[in-house]
Amino acid sequence: MISRIKGTNDIIEDSKVWEWLEEKLKNVALNFGFVEARTPIFEATELFNRSVGNETDIVQKEMYTFEDKGGRSITLRPEGTAPVMRAFIENNLSSKGLPQKLFYCGPMFRYERPQAGRLRQFHQFGVELIGSSLPIADAMTILLAIEMLKAIGLDEFKLKINSTGDEKCRPNYVEALKAYYKPFLNDLCDDCKVRYDRNVLRLLDCKKDAKYAENAPKITDYLCDDCKSHFDKLKKYLDDMEIEYEVDPAIVRGLDYYTRTVFEFKYPNLGAQDAIGGGGRYDNLIEELGGSKVPSIGFAFGIERLILALEAEKRLPKIEGLDIYVISIDENQKIEALKIAGALSKYFKVDVDVMGRNVKGQFSHASKENARYTVVIGEEEIKTGLYTLKNMKTGEQWKVRLSEIIKIVSGSGETDTTDA
Ligand code: AMP
Repeated sequence: MISRIKGTNDIIEDSKVWEWLEEKLKNVALNFGFVEARTPIFEATELFNRSVGNETDIVQKEMYTFEDKGGRSITLRPEGTAPVMRAFIENNLSSKGLPQKLFYCGPMFRYERPQAGRLRQFHQFGVELIGSSLPIADAMTILLAIEMLKAIGLDEFKLKINSTGDEKCRPNYVEALKAYYKPFLNDLCDDCKVRYDRNVLRLLDCKKDAKYAENAPKITDYLCDDCKSHFDKLKKYLDDMEIEYEVDPAIVRGLDYYTRTVFEFKYPNLGAQDAIGGGGRYDNLIEELGGSKVPSIGFAFGIERLILALEAEKRLPKIEGLDIYVISIDENQKIEALKIAGALSKYFKVDVDVMGRNVKGQFSHASKENARYTVVIGEEEIKTGLYTLKNMKTGEQWKVRLSEIIKIVSGSGETDTTDA
């Protein structure tokens, strides 16, 4: 037998929950005026090297990169922002006016060590608000994320925010951080020894070396006036909206393109992988990818983690079964049953026997599928055009025409039918 690749999942039994979840998230985004961006799953490797950053864990260790038959270096997207920004530039979306409000939903690929809540193919729902440098855009983005969490019934989340400064103030902070960590360099984990030179900010969110991070200098003490004022305004807006948050100087995020605001949503009870989503501002990314300077902010939720959080809270929705199961008395009515199922499928979730089950077998299958109603088709029914409709919960039955079945099952009205 050929098994699936380590760190990937088949989503079959849960697919209805996934559809429900994606629909909820999508509706919030659509209601806020966002438009879906569907970009390719693979991109030129260079895109991620230049955006996510050569020195990040993602680019150094986690990308699925291969050469295609034309000798190009291709990478399965490890995240969604860089591809959407590539598309923004390539499709000249700035000419359509700013802001551009885009969302995406789909698989991402990172060669990480698989464990609960951490996969090699995982899924993100992300949002990008492109074109504003103002802190009100940060506030709107965070509000949108919170409305999404509420829409799926998660309200125990913790919002953590931080500012990572900009090109003016971050270099001073990086120096201060290097000076602080230097005496412990030999005691740090192997990853952090490498990160010290390449991407010292990442030392702050290393779980193994967390004890050193406690007393590390805080970026918020190093922000320049502009970054500080931006961060103060965002905090005021969140306070004004009564959105609870914690300023956490250890939130630095793993990608190079972030400037100023960064944030994460944590969900308690998820163990080590408790980040359900995160994002931040990227004021220079579009320019670095060859576009003009278009400041932007975005975030992404991890869909698997949202589902784990819903499971932990016992808040997974009960997905309704069938509306109608169409039952045929014997072989002669199979095609009529199929035709009626076809007509009803315009309005309802329907099913019909394809296994050659007898009437009893069809009824028990209808119950197993949680059908709300059954319609029985026999010779008599075909002759008269009156079918036996049964409410599977109450046992009520009617002899009705097709048009009345539609009315009754959609709960939209009285009928003049006789009880069977
Ligand atoms: P990031 O792009 O790393 O900020 O990820 C955003 C969100 O995606 C995280 O908060 C997680 O919920 C989710 N995520 C990131 N990496 C993984 C992974 N390997 N497996 C499952 N979910 C992930």
